[in-house]
Amino acid sequence: MAEQWQMVIGIETHVELDTRTKAFCACENSYGAPPNTHVCPLCMGLPGALPVLNRQMVHLAVKAGLALDCSINLESRFDRKNYFYPDLPKAYQITQFYHPLCEGGQVTIQTPGGEKTIGITRIHMEEDAGKLSHGENASLLDMNRCGVPLIEIVSEPDISSPEEASAYLRKLRAILMFAGISPCRMNQGNFRADVNLSVHKPGNPFGVRTEMKNLNSFQSVERAIKAEFERQTALLEAGGEVVQETRRFDQKTGQTFSMRKKEDSADYRYFPEPDIPWLVLSGKEVEDIRRSLPVLPDQLRRRFTETCGLTDYAAGLMVEEKWLADYFTAAASCAHEPAALANLLLGECFALMNQQGLDQLPVSPGHLASLSNLMTSGRINSSTGKKILAALFEEDQDPVSYAEKHDLFLLTDEAALSALVEKTLLQCPDLVESYLGGKLTVEKALMGRAMGLSRGKAEPEALRRLMIDQLEKRKQQKNSPM
Ligand code: ADP
Ligand code: MG
Ligand code: ZN
Repeated sequence: MAEQWQMVIGIETHVELDTRTKAFCACENSYGAPPNTHVCPLCMGLPGALPVLNRQMVHLAVKAGLALDCSINLESRFDRKNYFYPDLPKAYQITQFYHPLCEGGQVTIQTPGGEKTIGITRIHMEEDAGKLSHGENASLLDMNRCGVPLIEIVSEPDISSPEEASAYLRKLRAILMFAGISPCRMNQGNFRADVNLSVHKPGNPFGVRTEMKNLNSFQSVERAIKAEFERQTALLEAGGEVVQETRRFDQKTGQTFSMRKKEDSADYRYFPEPDIPWLVLSGKEVEDIRRSLPVLPDQLRRRFTETCGLTDYAAGLMVEEKWLADYFTAAASCAHEPAALANLLLGECFALMNQQGLDQLPVSPGHLASLSNLMTSGRINSSTGKKILAALFEEDQDPVSYAEKHDLFLLTDEAALSALVEKTLLQCPDLVESYLGGKLTVEKALMGRAMGLSRGKAEPEALRRLMIDQLEKRKQQKNSPM
């Protein structure tokens, strides 16, 4: 029975570190420069050029390890992983195979069944390869990416569904962004996931896994996992065997297809990198880095639920992007009701951003907070709020002055509202008679009249209260004998 199969998933994530220069040379580490302009003899793999380890790379890798609860090996070493590919001019990659920098960490994710911990096996440092672009008649090589510093974060096979896989990656990405390790822009290849998947029946040993490479959106991770699970279970049900191999996910067909048989580590002829000495850190260096860790997403999420009154869901969304969490923190400090502000931010603001194709908010946190305050205090209604927000997207300005200038405030003054009620009742004697005769539903019509007289400006709650007060008073006068 196909339902009895369970999926077992472990993820290897490659993250480009936000350093000024490359891992082993002084070339600039920058995205989007004209091809082959940030290169030198070392990162072009010319013979005789010697690598020098980038301190900032080590610093960020240690920081990542600490943010992910790993233990840091004070002594680690680089190795050569030998293989030929056109994007790898040296024909080997410098990586940490035998003695990685970090081991034994964890990431906690929220699942429908509660919290779940995904183990981190290890984190090691390595260098990126160049970038190949395949055209119709030619393939082009950009070596700007050769030697860009990476960490590879290897998870335990603790993940058991597509949703858990994407929750793990989202959390991992948020932690790395908060800690300033990497901007983790998936469309720029800063954060890339390889998904290993096997299936088995509970109580049996793990099955043979396949690896799906370079999935660069959460959605394709989830889709690739579903497709590969279907493929493996169908194969096994039909009496076939899963072959250990590297597969690629095709966005268009939604299927995975074989790329190459998976190499064993022996194929790479790993050996210690002779040009780089052991990396030796002191306990004090590591502790200094630990102290420099900023507030991380889980801490912040708890702060948002406990002190700002956000739901778990809203708080979870708010800490998925660093800029968003920073924005909310700044705005919430001026908001009377931070939870209402969060709704405005996650709802209407994101809708407008999507509509206009923006990836940042064009409104300052202070202005959004005062707009939220105008709404929660009842000085404007929600449709006016939306109108003002759209205006702030056009031009970031003070919503209070904007509302004043365009006469958008609701009428909340009790005396003015009472006068409005008087006037309405005078104008509609028939409706008043019906009300006094027991037909309470005419209140709606009276409210409509009053609203019309105020040109939609009357604050509805107060207006209704005063209207009913007046009507009830008249009813009593009518019924009480003179
Ligand atoms: P390699 O270096 O050959 O890719 P690793 O042993 O480093 O192999 O494992 C890579 C990833 O595969 C890890 O994230 C690990 O959790 C995962 N993994 C290992 N065995 C299985 C399995 N049977 N099913 C699914 N994932 C697995
Ligand atoms: Mg691997
Ligand atoms: Zn270089």
